[in-house]
Amino acid sequence: MSSIRLAIVGLGKIARDQHLGAIEATDGIDLVAVASRNAKLEGVHCFSDIHELLASGIEIDAISLCTPPQGRFEQAQAALLANKHVMLEKPPGATIAEVFALDQLAQKQGKSLFATWHSREAAAVEPARKLLSERKVRSVHVEWKEDVRHWHPGQAWIWEPGGLGVFDPGINALSIVTRIMPESFHLTASELSFPANRAAPIAANLTFASASGIAVTAEFDWRQTGPQTWDIRVETEEGPVVLTHGGSRLLVDGTAQIVEEDREYRNLYRHFVSLVNAGRSDTDFSPLVHVADAFMLGRRNVVEAFED
Ligand code: NAP
Repeated sequence: MSSIRLAIVGLGKIARDQHLGAIEATDGIDLVAVASRNAKLEGVHCFSDIHELLASGIEIDAISLCTPPQGRFEQAQAALLANKHVMLEKPPGATIAEVFALDQLAQKQGKSLFATWHSREAAAVEPARKLLSERKVRSVHVEWKEDVRHWHPGQAWIWEPGGLGVFDPGINALSIVTRIMPESFHLTASELSFPANRAAPIAANLTFASASGIAVTAEFDWRQTGPQTWDIRVETEEGPVVLTHGGSRLLVDGTAQIVEEDREYRNLYRHFVSLVNAGRSDTDFSPLVHVADAFMLGRRNVVEAFED
């Protein structure tokens, strides 16, 4: 099978930190072009936006969108209408309706659509999922607390409507919990803290319930300096199952398990290659649905203004 000729749209932090290296390390896919308003990359065709890329006539099979979520729909739609397979960075879009519309369009065009959740590829996630399917889960508590100034310097879009604020990292935790939980759950309460000068929350406290009564709670906070916390603690009748470091480490009944090297983005690209070659899509939007619910049910607190 010939290699997939890929273009990246939006050559920013995550494209440079993760996508370029992962594509390089993945068989069956080659980066041939980049479309970014300001950034360029040596050795590939460079365009200023997706429309210039698609109009150029260079041969590409697929597009990986690494732009902010606002505006992603128009880009994905243009790519699918031009008969390209599409890989979406998380979150897959800015609204629920637009991601379902994209899913339908991909089906209509007969192209693969991959809504990625990189945190689901963290080393502890699959072992935790298997373990929890054999245990009786009592409760889940998520603590996702990081320093926004460190991780998102100068990213204005993240504070705008559709940028999700603290849910930009928080949705990673939800992508893990939705994968490892043996049953589905839904939001029952949400408290959101908005800085007085921003359109997106800096902190959130969420409560969910499952049909069988498992309590799921989550605390997201972007104001944590010093050590960072990305932990998910699952209490089971047989003992605690704890994922730390964003899902890359696992403690079972207090004992640390084997930790693998980080392969999140290499796993994503390997999966994308297999989806394209099999003519399939992978579009689980459930983490975004929970975030939308958190905004729908959210009680709004106004907190201290945030300056970069
Ligand atoms: P970023 O550093 O701001 O990069 C996004 C790039 O998209 C920008 O450099 C920009 O390049 C381009 N772009 C196109 N339209 C834009 C617009 N209207 N506003 C701003 N930039 C625009 O953001 P990022 O951190 O890479 O995040 C991109 C996506 O990846 C987000 O959905 C984020 O949740 C996800 N993600 C980020 C991380 C992370 O650690 N940063 C981790 C995992 C996933 P040009 O100016 O050249 O057009």
